[in-house]
Amino acid sequence: MQYKRILLKLSGEALMGTRQYGIDPERLAEYAQEIKTVIEKGIEVAIVIGGGNIFRGVAGASKGMDRVQADNMGMLATVINGLALQSALENAEVQTRLQTAIEINSVAEPFIRRRAIRHLEKGRVVIFGGGTGNPYFTTDSAAVLRAIEIKADIILKGTRVDGIYTADPEKDKLATKFDFITFEDVLKKGLKVMDTTAFTLSHENELPIIVFDMNTPGNLLKVVTGEKIGTKVNL
Ligand code: UDP
Repeated sequence: MQYKRILLKLSGEALMGTRQYGIDPERLAEYAQEIKTVIEKGIEVAIVIGGGNIFRGVAGASKGMDRVQADNMGMLATVINGLALQSALENAEVQTRLQTAIEINSVAEPFIRRRAIRHLEKGRVVIFGGGTGNPYFTTDSAAVLRAIEIKADIILKGTRVDGIYTADPEKDKLATKFDFITFEDVLKKGLKVMDTTAFTLSHENELPIIVFDMNTPGNLLKVVTGEKIGTKVNL
């Protein structure tokens, strides 16, 4: 195995499947199976989940809502997704713990770094909900922050695109994919991997990122075994 401890970032939108909004239970079940194959190989798995399938703070603010209120709603949306993912993983007989950055003690554990690491060592999937717990941040930033805190070997950003391209492959047919790219080249070429705050945090802490297509069955396992799937961003 190439990596011992991974942090998987899933966007909220990924949970929609073919829907326009909310959660597709079939997609969740598929993800749970993918994660199970990796856990069964003895890899430690932490997950940060987004909330964009339910609510985004920026969208609320653009309609006149107070930004902090709207971001709080977004963070709670990630907790809803975390509960859904926890349920899907438990249906697949994978042990999990949900830890939230905003305390909701009757629903999930609070985020406690040492406890999260202990769960991982015991083979439990740890889902981090509630983002960073602060408005004006994204769950990409939460993913990088948690990955650094738990000393993950890598961030795996599961998307619907199979890597980083010279241009948006959904818009430009001539776009070509990178197998490998440095943090500096991402910046120089103005490519979009994560938001700037998240990307800078990853760069400064020398934490590599792999962007890959999470919707192709078997890909997650291929990534952790070191197969050249997606695009790796490294120093
Ligand atoms: N959010 C926040 N602080 C955080 C993480 C998330 O305020 O640390 C809010 C923010 O409003 C964001 C929403 O939660 O729009 C959902 O997160 P994100 O947009 O990152 O989800 P994704 O795009 O991955 O589905």
